[in-house]
Order: sequence, then C-alpha cells, then structure tokens
Amino acid sequence: MVITRHHGIIWGGKNLDKKKLSTHKLVPGALQKVNFLPDTKRVIVIGGGAAGMLAAGTAGSRGLDVLLIEKNNILGRKLLITGKGRCNITNSVGEIGDLIANIPVNGKFLYSAFHTFSNYDLIKLFNELGLETKVERGGRVFPASDRSVDVVNALKKYLNKNNVQIIKGEVQKIVAQNNIVSKVVLQDGRIFLCQSVIVATGGMSYPQTGSTGDGYRFARESGHTVTPLTPSLVPLEVKERWAAELQGLSLKNVAISLLDENNKELYRDFGEMLFTHFGVSGPIILSASSYLGNINKKKYRLVLDLKPALSEEQLDLRIQRDFHKYANRFFVNSLPDLLPKKMIPVIIKLSKISPEKPVNQISRSERKKLVELLKNLTLEIKKYRPLKEAIITSGGVAVEEINPYTMESKLVKGLFFAGEVIDVNAYTGGFNLQIAFSTGYLAGLNC
Ligand SMILES: Cc1cc2nc3c(=O)[nH]c(=O)nc-3n(C[C@H](O)[C@H](O)[C@H](O)COP(=O)(O)OP(=O)(O)OC[C@H]3O[C@@H](n4cnc5c(N)ncnc54)[C@H](O)[C@@H]3O)c2cc1C
Repeated sequence: MVITRHHGIIWGGKNLDKKKLSTHKLVPGALQKVNFLPDTKRVIVIGGGAAGMLAAGTAGSRGLDVLLIEKNNILGRKLLITGKGRCNITNSVGEIGDLIANIPVNGKFLYSAFHTFSNYDLIKLFNELGLETKVERGGRVFPASDRSVDVVNALKKYLNKNNVQIIKGEVQKIVAQNNIVSKVVLQDGRIFLCQSVIVATGGMSYPQTGSTGDGYRFARESGHTVTPLTPSLVPLEVKERWAAELQGLSLKNVAISLLDENNKELYRDFGEMLFTHFGVSGPIILSASSYLGNINKKKYRLVLDLKPALSEEQLDLRIQRDFHKYANRFFVNSLPDLLPKKMIPVIIKLSKISPEKPVNQISRSERKKLVELLKNLTLEIKKYRPLKEAIITSGGVAVEEINPYTMESKLVKGLFFAGEVIDVNAYTGGFNLQIAFSTGYLAGLNC
C-alpha cells in the first residue's frame, strides 16, 4: 500500500523515473506523488548539494524512507562549478591527521566523520558508481573525465540506487515539538512529517547556486548558536591603485609570500594569480586568504616574486643581457622579453627610472632596484571581497552543539547538520568537499 500524506499541492514533476534520473530536472510539472512507506522511518534531507546527496543516498541504503528537497531546478548546482568545472572531489593525503591538518577551523571535530568515511572511502564509492578518478599536483583528486557533471551524475546514481525520492521545493521552516523534529514546512505551504531532518543547505557563498544561508536560520530558530559568518578562500582588495591597471592579467608562475605587520611570514605559495579591478584573485591568492587573521585590526602584505626561478643575481644577469640586446632603446622599450606587455608601464612607474632613459645609461644601482622590485612587488591588503564572492563561508552552526559521532544536534533530537552549514572550513585541495561528503555520510548513517 502506498500512503500519500501531504498538505497543499504536491509539485515537482512526475514521480521519479529511475532510468531518467541522471538527466532529471526538478521542474514544476504534473502532480507528483511523494510515496510514504508505512511504518518506515522518514528522513528529510534539505539541500541537494554534495552533503545532501551523500546523506540522502546513505540513509536510503539503510532502507529508510528518504525525501530529498532541493530548491533549484537541478541537483548539485554548486558542485558543477567546483574546480573550474572539473570538481576537485577530495585529496589523496594518506592519514586522517593529514586531512585534519588542512582544516584550520574545528578540524578535530571531523575526526569521527573522516574515520567513518575517509577520502579513500569516497574515491571507492565514486569508482563503484562508475566514476574513474585521477590524482594531480598536491594530491588533488579529480574525475578522470575532468567533468564535474560526471560527479553529479554519479551522485544521482547513488540516490537512484537507494530509492531516494527527490522533489523541488524551498524549505521555509523545520518544526520541532518538545525538542524533537516533527515536520518541515515548504515555502509553497506543503508540509512533510518526518522523524529526522538533515540540514545540508550549504553556506552563503555564491548564492546564485542556491546556498543562501537558509540553514543558519533553521539552526538559530531551533536554538542553536551560529558563529560569525565571514568569507574564506576569497579574493582580496588591495591599496595600491596600480593593481587595477593590471586587471585581467593572469600570472602563471609567481611566488607569493603573505606577511603580517611584524614581517612574519604566514604563508608562501607558488602558482597562478590574477589581477582584477579591485586587487588580486586566483588560486594562490584564495589559498593565502585563509591564513589572514583579523584584517580589520592588523595589517597584512602580499609580496610577489615575479621571477621565482631566478635568484637576484641571476635576474640581474638576465636584465643585463636584455639591456645589452636592446642597448639602443629607451628603458620603456627594453623589457618585452622579461615581462608581460600589460605589466611594463606599471613596473616602469614603480622603478622610478625615466621611461625615456636610454638603456645604456641606466646605472647599476637603478638596475639593482629593478631586480628588487621584480622579486618583491608588494601589495597591502585592504579587505576581503564580500561573502558572496568567497569560495566558502567561514563560521556556521557551532560544533559544540553537534554530536561529532553522528552529526545530530545535541539540542534537538532528530535534527542533523552536514556540510558547509557547520562551523568548519578547509584550505583548497578538495578538503571542503571531503568535509561535505564525510559529514553527509555520517548524518545519513545515523539519522
Ligand atoms: C567556485 C567554487 C569552486 C569550488 N571548488 C571546490 C573544489 O574544487 N573542491 C572543494 O573541495 N571545494 C570546492 N568548493 C567548495 C565546495 O563547493 C563547498 O564547500 C561544498 O559544495 C559544500 O557542500 P554543501 O552540500 O554543504 O553545500 P552546497 O553544495 O552549497 O549545497 C547546498 C544545497 O542546498 C540547497 N538549499 C539551500 N537552502 C535550501 C532550502 N531552504 N530548501 C531547499 N534547498 C535548499 C541549495 O540550493 C544547494 O543546492 C568550491 C566552491 C565554489 C563557490
């Protein structure tokens, strides 16, 4: 017998056609039956992102009656844009301690989640779902196809295999009676009764993907503490006006060093960065941002080494060779082999050497200063870009109020949290998705 117990309109397309799940769009359509199995524990998962899909599939694998509610037309919208469309699923570090070492905020809280479902368990699961993976620089794990859509499709397969029902809908409220979860209410008035709710609504970054911070509201409304929400892995605004003149310029092989006001080096990296109209972005800048302290109280500088492969002496010799080659030119026309075109006027201005000075008249000390400039191009950090431009949201549901062995709230029975909504965040390298998958798995296992 199939029991349908609902209020208001049931909405969201036909009942799930399992064969079509991989292309299934959660669009409004004909009446949708949500089939409730009698006498089976009903679990509602809010949010069809990385954490929600893993949680729902895992709960379904236990034979529970699972309903996944996603407000977007499609599942995994944020997943699709991860890793520049390639999705850096996880990292291949060998030990749980190594995973935790890459999680500067509340890493230890995740010990049990990683122990129960590690990076290798995740890779195995994806492989079983037909997704081949590969490991790149820094242990970053990607789908072999380089297509994030294949990751989303594998997760849809997991949902399908474990009989998860999926509807499009925006959850407005979670209702608890006597501190026990009892139902969820959707924006359109539909109400679903349940014994467990897993909140996997993500953070507040890139809100166009659906993560608009609803989970923080649910947490507060049910009496939880939400720690301050700030951007992490975020582009940085800088004081120097010349940075904007370089907007659009991407530098592939630069070294950066992040220094505090006492000249203490907080972070060093090598790779790709980008100048923008406000300052700097790109992979190494985003990584550096998570090493900053209180940006409103302290001063931080980024020192760029534009020629990290050369020592100062080697760079000086290199410049001497260029000056020799262009001996009859003005300074302004002597740097085409050394620097990207867009950068030349900026470096000339900063060097304080007249652009019209003939190269053969440039003094040794002027040349030394040029070398110093190219090895230590300094930017003072003004502020973070806003939360909506951050890769992740730092802060979230306080970990002290969540049982680390189950992801269940310590305050409300039957209420679970998974993914970015929790106050944990990691460096780049696949660690943030691993957090979402491991906490999702643990919630699905214990709900
Ligand atoms: C540009 C970018 C690139 C990234 N690249 C990587 C990477 O390569 N590797 C990595 O490890 N991390 C990466 N991250 C971070 C990673 O994507 C997130 O940490 C991760 O997606 C969080 O998963 P989640 O399931 O908690 O939340 P999300 O993936 O944000 O999913 C939350 C879902 O909940 C839904 N939802 C929200 N509120 C409601 C509601 N009221 N009712 C119904 N549904 C709701 C949303 O629509 C959304 O689908 C990247 C992030 C960005 C922005």
